Amino acid sequence: MKKIQKLLVANRGEISLRIMRTAKEMGIKTVAVYSEADRNAPHVKFADEAVCLGPPASSKSYLLMDKIIEVSKSLNVDAIHPGYGFLSENASFAQKVTDAGIIFVGPSPAAIEVMGSKLAAKHAVSKYDIPMVPGTEDAISDIPAAKVKANEIGYPILIKASAGGGGKGMRIVENEEEFEEQMNRAISEAESAFGDGAVFIEKYITSPRHIEIQVLGDMHGNVIHLFERECSVQRRHQKVIEEAPSAVVSDQMRKAMGEAAVKVAKACDYYGAGTVEFIVDEKLNFYFLEMNTRLQVEHPVTEMITGKDLVKEQILIAEGHPLSFSQEDLKIHGHAVEVRVYAEDPRNNFLPDIGNLQTYIRPQGSGVRVDDGFEQGMDIPIYYDPMIAKLITHADTRELAMDRMIRAIEEYQITGIETTLGFCKFVMEHEAFRSGDFDTKFVEKYFTPEKLDIQWTEEELALLSAAAVSLYEKQKTDLRRVNSLQNDALPRTNWKNRLL
Ligand code: ADP
Repeated sequence: MKKIQKLLVANRGEISLRIMRTAKEMGIKTVAVYSEADRNAPHVKFADEAVCLGPPASSKSYLLMDKIIEVSKSLNVDAIHPGYGFLSENASFAQKVTDAGIIFVGPSPAAIEVMGSKLAAKHAVSKYDIPMVPGTEDAISDIPAAKVKANEIGYPILIKASAGGGGKGMRIVENEEEFEEQMNRAISEAESAFGDGAVFIEKYITSPRHIEIQVLGDMHGNVIHLFERECSVQRRHQKVIEEAPSAVVSDQMRKAMGEAAVKVAKACDYYGAGTVEFIVDEKLNFYFLEMNTRLQVEHPVTEMITGKDLVKEQILIAEGHPLSFSQEDLKIHGHAVEVRVYAEDPRNNFLPDIGNLQTYIRPQGSGVRVDDGFEQGMDIPIYYDPMIAKLITHADTRELAMDRMIRAIEEYQITGIETTLGFCKFVMEHEAFRSGDFDTKFVEKYFTPEKLDIQWTEEELALLSAAAVSLYEKQKTDLRRVNSLQNDALPRTNWKNRLL
């Protein structure tokens, strides 16, 4: 067992800060890396040491594997945490780090490799009796044969790039006529976007929920799960609101999903923190989608309901410790909701809205957590993911956690750019979200930009017009009074202007 003394976080922004905070609590020295665009970022200021990697583009900074390893060696770093995104799911980076004699805070390169390919992942878990969406098991090379399979599965079907990720590389095919054309497009898109043209087909589940299970495994073969996260509110197949637990998962379903997730992790001898993603149909049948071999953006909701610090667990596992708690020790405490605050304009198709954070005041108070990597006055760089912050609330019940979220959103003050805050408040107040009866189509079904305009009820409109009439009457009276005063030949002042 090797005690980590100095940790380099190969990432930026909120996740870099979040990881370094835990490291400090554990008495571990921290090293930040940054690009020229992030020179003044909070994660750079927070670290004990910081090294500039290069120009802003990720390919010239945060993705430079050899440079990051070189920096680590020169500063006597003994472990690297990759965060999420960037190099976090790059098996060759994990291998290079290990080969350099540095601890990689994450799973083995082999586990990253298998789970990084959706097809290889399906193969790996096929022996373990895990429910999977009906589809092809191998990459499609013979289009007519695939068409026969698609007919068997039934339309609509989904073409997926095996190497796809982040909601990219998916195409829905509504009927047989479109099949060939869509398939050719999907293959060439997969080749250009991921350098791998392997695609496969799956039944397209029309109204699915996305529910995932957090797992933790140690290097001694123990794997446990930390319950589910509901991530169905998405735009462009990407999550924007998450919660734990899910409003629809019963104890029995939780147990079944948890056991399936543990089997998936065991199928690739997993250690570290990971997430097994499932898609859930209207009848609450669940099917394995993929495994993410890293810390997820939405991990805080799990931390809030379990009281565990997942980064601390990752570090202890990387040091070689066995898990310090068992499945039976874990209990769900209350409910947590997370909204992702993106620099995006929900009125304009959620396109990034980059600019300067002229005002930036965080909400505070009981049960409110903000994980962010910006300060007032900073620019949001165009080079990276436009997420400004994650706002998380925790309370005894789902209802109270949502109410707390609405309060926190109202307290959050951001000017200078458009954000997803108003959209998230709309979701928190929406009947479908509140009742728990929603799926991944929430945005398409219920959201239009006008929903962000103030919606007055008839009652409110009546009150407003009554208020306007009484204001008008008051002004008229005041004006009359001024006129009569003036007529009484008082000194001429600009009272009238002031009153009006
Ligand atoms: P990525 O690796 O790009 O995140 P996933 O396989 O995790 O891809 O899927 C992302 C999202 O796409 C899911 O959360 C879900 O909304 C949608 N999706 C994936 N597979 C299906 C399917 N078979 N039917 C319907 N929707 C799907």
